[in-house]
Amino acid sequence: MTARSVSELVVHDDAVRANTAFFAEHISGRLMAVLKADAFGHGAVARTVVAAGARSIGVTSIAEALAVRAEGVVVPVLSWLNPVDADFGAAVLADVDLAVPSTAVLAAVAHAGRVVGRRARVHLHVDVGMARDGCPPGAWAALCALACEFEAAGDIRVVGVMGHMSSADLPEDPQNDRERLVFRNAVRTARRRSLRPAVTHLAATAATLTGVGDGHDLHRIGAGLFGIDPSGTTDVLRPALTLRTRVVATRTVPAGTGVGYGHDHTAADCTTLALLPLGYGDGLPRAAAHRAEVLLAGRRRPVVGRFSMDMLVVDTGGDDVLPGSVATVFGPGGDGEPTVAEWAGWASTIPHEIVVAVGARSARVLRTTTTTTTGGTAWTA
Ligand SMILES: *Cc1c(COP(=O)(O)O)cnc(C)c1O
Repeated sequence: MTARSVSELVVHDDAVRANTAFFAEHISGRLMAVLKADAFGHGAVARTVVAAGARSIGVTSIAEALAVRAEGVVVPVLSWLNPVDADFGAAVLADVDLAVPSTAVLAAVAHAGRVVGRRARVHLHVDVGMARDGCPPGAWAALCALACEFEAAGDIRVVGVMGHMSSADLPEDPQNDRERLVFRNAVRTARRRSLRPAVTHLAATAATLTGVGDGHDLHRIGAGLFGIDPSGTTDVLRPALTLRTRVVATRTVPAGTGVGYGHDHTAADCTTLALLPLGYGDGLPRAAAHRAEVLLAGRRRPVVGRFSMDMLVVDTGGDDVLPGSVATVFGPGGDGEPTVAEWAGWASTIPHEIVVAVGARSARVLRTTTTTTTGGTAWTA
């Protein structure tokens, strides 16, 4: 038996679907849905995005790729970040494509393909200017040469060449031109080595929305599918999460009452405080203290005092709020609740960090309609 959690993270399937369809229709190439980090905290949405037009799926680790396969999708799945001793054999057996940033990883992948008796499908990954993952341009020709050998030996097939841009949210930044050039040259080098990648891909959400990563076969879209626009250029994307909980207890306190650790907040007047069973242990950032609000009993109410690991205290301004009342921490915003973007602002971070942080204590619930019930004392499952 498992007890039902008090807090719910509602995933608005219709919003994910609409965002996916938007990209599938508006990009020049094919859509690879990036579902890393548990689909940016949205859970098992692989089938949803495939039904809405995604032609392939991208994740970081092999474990994530196998989890996507376990959701039952048959489209290509690409895993792009693995140590040299990762279980490449399991990936190849599960038809998972592997991004390769170095000759060492390439040799390991080719070996794994040989062992399991199947050609590994490889995307060669060039670092176009992040100094993060991917093959440094100076080592690229050697990587292509070795890929050519392994391809001739039947161990691998190079199906793609990929890069990832550093500054695509700023389309005027000259760095974009430099990175596009590095990528073009890398693709040319691969072709000169008689590799025949079926797809080249450079753009993620920002590069797609600003257009700086256009001209390639695939677009790897993550944030945008979940209503996050790092480029600030569109208002059609819909947030796809609602986090809500219920008031555990209330108390009326006199003016001058210190609240929580360190008495960071002192009640100015006699007021009623409502206790919510969510805190930084559930992913709500402590840095949002003194700014954060929740929607409770029809109005925005301030969170007061420091965030605890498991609790927030909300000042109801003396309104009579009953224990059990639903508090909406964030949602699409249509009912006046705070949005993920507002939470990101309160915590001086990006929306990505808010959505991926929501902890496992909040039950994930998939909903196909974006209606947020903000009144009443309970929600229906
Ligand atoms: C995370 C990631 C993406 C997706 O980026 P978004 O900005 O979320 O669309 C694409 N490619 C790589 C290599 C990534 O790490």
